[in-house]
Amino acid sequence: MLQFQQVSKTYRQGSRTIEALRELDLTIGTKGFYAVMGPSGSGKSTLLHLAAGLDRPDRGRVQVDDHDLMTLSQRQLTSFRRDYVGIVFQQFNLIPTLTARQNIELPGVIARRSRSWVVQRADELLDELDLTQRADHRPDAMSGGEQQRVAIARALLFSPPLLLADEPTGNLDSASSEKLWQLMADLSAAHDMTVVMVTHEPAAVAHTSRAYVLSDGRAIGDFAVNGMDTSDVATRYQQLSRPASA
Ligand code: ADP
Ligand code: MG
Repeated sequence: MLQFQQVSKTYRQGSRTIEALRELDLTIGTKGFYAVMGPSGSGKSTLLHLAAGLDRPDRGRVQVDDHDLMTLSQRQLTSFRRDYVGIVFQQFNLIPTLTARQNIELPGVIARRSRSWVVQRADELLDELDLTQRADHRPDAMSGGEQQRVAIARALLFSPPLLLADEPTGNLDSASSEKLWQLMADLSAAHDMTVVMVTHEPAAVAHTSRAYVLSDGRAIGDFAVNGMDTSDVATRYQQLSRPASA
């Protein structure tokens, strides 16, 4: 469970202040594949960063399962970030000079896990994510879909219960995107994991079980997706975004 209670987050840009989240109240379920939808600037990335413990809100409470992130010490927050959550981004954020295998192994190397543990875990992930043939390639020799799978493998090295994905297919073509959404749905089921994907694409949301909609830093509603196709999702999203009274 991801719970945001009265969460506010403001950024300062010169003399301007930008309210990215405004007393946001939102509870996202556990174990499964969920979407957070909203237009550009609605606060989606900010929400994901707070859930990952990468940043702190100005006010309010962020709870991830039984972790109240506001009460964690710096040291506890560091281990929460490493062991409890994996995060992937639109830009993949791979190290260009390292091979696929080395990118996947890196968090284990940094955490000083034994060489044998790191190698075995990387082998498992390369196999599961269909990357074994790409293990010794650097990112610039891989397709976008392959690079994003490497980023997912790296995020899963410590088998976190929670995987967060910020517009993970923003740089992929539609065939690679479909494959990646299916992969995230499969991973959440196979590993009993909570996967939360931020997106503005109805086609992405159609692969999830529930969508939570943000607008202007607030949660404006959610709906069950099970069985909807892309155009059903788009219609439902528009109904929520532009209520009849507006
Ligand atoms: P989304 O991911 O939905 O596009 P964001 O969470 O990135 O939205 O941003 C919400 C608002 O906060 C936007 O107006 C954005 O410009 C602003 N914002 C986000 N990050 C920063 C930052 N580091 N500095 C200043 N403004 C920011
Ligand atoms: Mg964003």
